[in-house]
Amino acid sequence: MTTNEHLKLESVSEMLAFVLAVETEASERYAEMAESMDAHNNTKVAEIFREMADIEELHAEGVQRQVTELNLEYLPKADYKWSAPEGPETGDFSDLHYLMTPREALLLALHNEKRAAVYFADIAEKVTNDDVKKMAQEMAEEEREHVQWVEKWLLDYPEDENEWVEDVDPPVEQG
Ligand code: ZN
Repeated sequence: MTTNEHLKLESVSEMLAFVLAVETEASERYAEMAESMDAHNNTKVAEIFREMADIEELHAEGVQRQVTELNLEYLPKADYKWSAPEGPETGDFSDLHYLMTPREALLLALHNEKRAAVYFADIAEKVTNDDVKKMAQEMAEEEREHVQWVEKWLLDYPEDENEWVEDVDPPVEQG
């Protein structure tokens, strides 16, 4: 995935607005996925998505705290357009299946988190403002922590018989 060319991140407030939008969207999407799994009585997978939603919400709250600390009353509108149909950390509903196993759900989350880490690392490389660069590096680092966390979680769920998620989503290379 490449960073969208329309994305202009030249100031800390633009970056914070952007990150806030990304993290909020990621959290909301995980929460929606949890609800959808609940509706199909797939409670184990619902729990996984809810926990992912909580992680991303914490992340968004951390960004919100930074906004307050920096006294940024008005953030610019995060006017971003993805080159992909979804945000860098946003789960794709077409990857959902109501019979999906916890392992499949975690693989989906793993894919999202890897994508987010690569995305922010890419931004860090491209932006010219040093403060923004530092923030993007921190974001990439945080997303890599999420990746490690999901990888550890996956150890609790050994191989399934039908790993369709792995088939449709080849692993993203870490840059
Ligand atoms: Zn994350």
